[in-house]
Amino acid sequence: MPRLRGHHLVCLHFFKGEGYNEEFVENLTRVIRSAQDRGIEVHCGADDICAKCPYLNHTRCQYREDADKGIGEMDRTALDLLKLSRGVKIRWAEIGERIPEIFPAWRQAYCNSCSWRWACEGNDLYRRLRDTCPGPHRNRRKRDVTG
Ligand code: SF4
Repeated sequence: MPRLRGHHLVCLHFFKGEGYNEEFVENLTRVIRSAQDRGIEVHCGADDICAKCPYLNHTRCQYREDADKGIGEMDRTALDLLKLSRGVKIRWAEIGERIPEIFPAWRQAYCNSCSWRWACEGNDLYRRLRDTCPGPHRNRRKRDVTG
């Protein structure tokens, strides 16, 4: 059973094959399949996705300065929104059922400034949820994509 940290419980629902390198993408694909088959255990800190990330230094994310702190905050927000906590074991589909409800808050907090948004914009589910988001962000779609 894969162990996944908070923000991966949200963001991986929009994975469509992109990532830092081949090894990272292969692992990501394998972990998602396993999660779909066996469920996941909620983890805090570097998880089974981070394990193959070129920016992982021991247990810390070095994607950019202060990345580890920011990602820790994302994890906590994701767990609050999903009403999950460390050590919980849960079916992947059950998390997926909660994504539409939490998506507007998640998107407002993180997606608009995320460097991977271009990848999520290529995912059907992400686009569908984005296009039904209430509030002012709904009409910014075109500017978001073109920067
Ligand atoms: S745009 Fe970034 S924060 Fe939003 S779901 Fe995608 S990877 Fe996660």
